Amino acid sequence: MKSVILVGPGNLVVKEISVPDVTPPAHRVRMMACGICGSDVRYLAGENPWSLHTVGKNLASPPNMVLGHEIAGIVEANGVSKRVAILAYRACGRCRACLSGRENICASVEHLGHGAGWGTREYYPGGMAEEFEVWDGFSYEIPDTISFEEATFLDGLAVAIHACDRAGVVQGSRVAVLGLGPIGMLAAQVARDRGAEHVMACDTTALPVELARELGFESAAQSDGHAMFRRAERESKQFDAVIDTVGAQETVEAAFALLAPGGVISLLAVHEGHIELDAMRLSAERYVTTSANSPYRDFQRA
Ligand SMILES: [Zn+2]
Ligand SMILES: [Zn+2]
Repeated sequence: MKSVILVGPGNLVVKEISVPDVTPPAHRVRMMACGICGSDVRYLAGENPWSLHTVGKNLASPPNMVLGHEIAGIVEANGVSKRVAILAYRACGRCRACLSGRENICASVEHLGHGAGWGTREYYPGGMAEEFEVWDGFSYEIPDTISFEEATFLDGLAVAIHACDRAGVVQGSRVAVLGLGPIGMLAAQVARDRGAEHVMACDTTALPVELARELGFESAAQSDGHAMFRRAERESKQFDAVIDTVGAQETVEAAFALLAPGGVISLLAVHEGHIELDAMRLSAERYVTTSANSPYRDFQRA
């Protein structure tokens, strides 16, 4: 079968590999659509976003990873085929994180498309393959009204739901979203869906800002980090929640400048290195947290 394989940093190939064996109760999924996540681009560049976000260090990825974790496909079981979206990781189920419903920060996961938890293999499984094996209970039937391509967004939608939870977004919140990649765009929509009083969305490039305006976010603005920061200072400190999908010095500064007393910054991208911060920015119980992937329940909510 054809697979998209990250041989090593910067070296991505399409290659024929053998169809994986499937051991029941796990089942075989025929991939119909698989999204390209920002994480996939980071893997290609040699980063390991899963380990950065979950265990706080940049562990080397194994060679020959099949990329892809935003997956929809078809499962055949007992002569019936079902259209499904895949929850792409399985946590250990035993650690403190798992036992408290925070499977997303479990350090012992098997994760499709992330190379984590599979021991040593010739090829590490992922969604950018014609077929792959998935654990029992991790494929969710989708209605015919949702296309396979649309269903690939459920993974990102779950991440956006979790990011809004981490940032405490509720009805009446004032929310700023910095960085309008797919996750930022989804987070803005989740915030609006929750009844946020105001959602401001920013990106440095024109296209996502246009898309955000098309989605009804009239205050969407194109600005680089510095302009964003100045604008933030101007509009100062009026947001209860800032969702920063970039995690750069400029966006974190802008996020703090935007933040109301008691507000929360939810950081969705953490990178190695330092971010400078005037400690006074944390006054009045402002705080910053991270948001990593999403626990099982948020995929189900998505
Ligand atoms: Zn992803
Ligand atoms: Zn665990």
